[in-house]
Amino acid sequence: MTLTADAPVTTTDEQPKTFDSYNPTTGDVYATYPIDDAAAVQAAVERAREAADWWAGLGFKGRGKYLDQWRAVLARRMNQLADVVYAETGKPHGDAALEVGMAIEHLAWATKHAKKVLGKRHVSSGLVMVNQRATVEYLPRGVVGVIGPWNYPVFTPMGSIAYALAAGNTVVFKPSEFSPAIGTWLVDAFHEVLPDHDVLQIVRGFGETGNALCTSGVDKLAFTGSTRTGKKVLAACAETLTPVVIEAGGKDSIIVDADADVDKAAEAAAWGAFWNAGQTCIGIERAYVHEKVYDRFVDKLVERAKAVQPGVNYGPMTMPAQVEVIRKHIDDAIARGGKALTGGEVTDGFIPATVLVDVPEDALAVTDETFGPTITVRKVTSAQEAIDLTNASEYGLGSAVFSKKNGTWIADKVRSGMTAVNAVLVYAAIPSLPFGGVGQSGIGRIHGEDGLREFAQPKSVVKQLMPAALNVTSFDRGPTEDKLWGSLILTLHGRANQFLKKQ
Ligand code: NDP
Repeated sequence: MTLTADAPVTTTDEQPKTFDSYNPTTGDVYATYPIDDAAAVQAAVERAREAADWWAGLGFKGRGKYLDQWRAVLARRMNQLADVVYAETGKPHGDAALEVGMAIEHLAWATKHAKKVLGKRHVSSGLVMVNQRATVEYLPRGVVGVIGPWNYPVFTPMGSIAYALAAGNTVVFKPSEFSPAIGTWLVDAFHEVLPDHDVLQIVRGFGETGNALCTSGVDKLAFTGSTRTGKKVLAACAETLTPVVIEAGGKDSIIVDADADVDKAAEAAAWGAFWNAGQTCIGIERAYVHEKVYDRFVDKLVERAKAVQPGVNYGPMTMPAQVEVIRKHIDDAIARGGKALTGGEVTDGFIPATVLVDVPEDALAVTDETFGPTITVRKVTSAQEAIDLTNASEYGLGSAVFSKKNGTWIADKVRSGMTAVNAVLVYAAIPSLPFGGVGQSGIGRIHGEDGLREFAQPKSVVKQLMPAALNVTSFDRGPTEDKLWGSLILTLHGRANQFLKKQ
């Protein structure tokens, strides 16, 4: 099946330039769309700006009505959307449905919690300003640009789109050139429930279209993709001081301590490393395993890796160029003394699950994001060594720890945005948890309360209820007020441990 957009967005005398997306399993063209140039992106942002006041003015309840309807459409047609995800990414239908379901959960959470998190509330004005009534609320920013990747083409952009819409913004969404039909499906479904206002729009094309969105004057830009492109986005947005969220790459590890349930750890490591052919930003790419359980863990992991079938348990590489990156990482690991205990051959886009051991820590397979079905496994003598090696990465997105006694202790010491104890990746499916990384993994957070606030701006209002007993903010202030002010501050804060004692 080949899909085509109804009409080109750009209208010139020339034929509009188009681009194709492909079914990576068959290599066939799947969809064809016009490339939206800078003028088309600008026009979409202007339409979004016109709709912004109306959408913001609906309030949480009014917006919630439409978001709930959209959620119901997504849930009812989950299989239809999963078909499109399968066709354009090659991932199994079940994985596609899992992704869609998780995105729906986030949409539900954002819709339900937006008022509580962002709505106007009183805050304490403190003892010295006790005559003031202080309130804070989080207002919509206006128009949010969302740039998404292809690996979880529903789940990842929805982590921004759902939260931005629930916070009262309108959205212009640029999906990856590899997944434009999926993005179009999502936006079309929204238009079905809200046809008359440009609250959620799509622009399609390559990197230039994304760049045009960065420089279009949107009020916030949410990017999910590679660290390399994230830096370009940050630089482009700096021109207009456009604030950004950057959800970038990772090199997550699993730490398996001496007392871990080894079977469960191997099962989780296999899922974390090989799910979606390793095309997962929070995928497990490194394992640090205590020497006491190392041999057993490696045996179990290899057993599991051998049972995983490319083409059945996961699809081909969605982006053909990724095949070369994975080949390079495996070749480099083996050239430096590493061994592939299973897999290791890269002949086409269906890459076998690969377990690498004895790989030095400065090899590409350990330092760089591989984004394929591979995992390096290294023996360590203590949990602390595993923590140090994990934290040596310039990335810090997610991580996992397996230990019966020390899981939380280890988790607290790992430098990452999210850590799962005795599980992998699960934080992504818990809408109340903020999601994002440190270091080269990005800036800012999606999901949860932080994810809602990311797409809003705080507004503080203070109302004077009565004249101050001690009027220090006036030129009428004299020596008496100065003296009383000094005494007050000394009384309140002069003893170093007074707050600690109360805790
Ligand atoms: P890319 O960085 O290649 O692309 C991401 C998006 O940016 C695409 O829509 C792309 O468009 C667009 N883009 C490309 N160039 C520019 C530019 N100059 N200005 C603005 N936008 C541009 O990432 P991938 O699509 O390959 O996705 C995989 C990456 O995403 C991995 O590194 C993965 O770790 C990361 N990721 C991070 C997540 C997180 O939450 N932290 C979640 C999921 C993935 P086009 O495709 O048309 O070139």
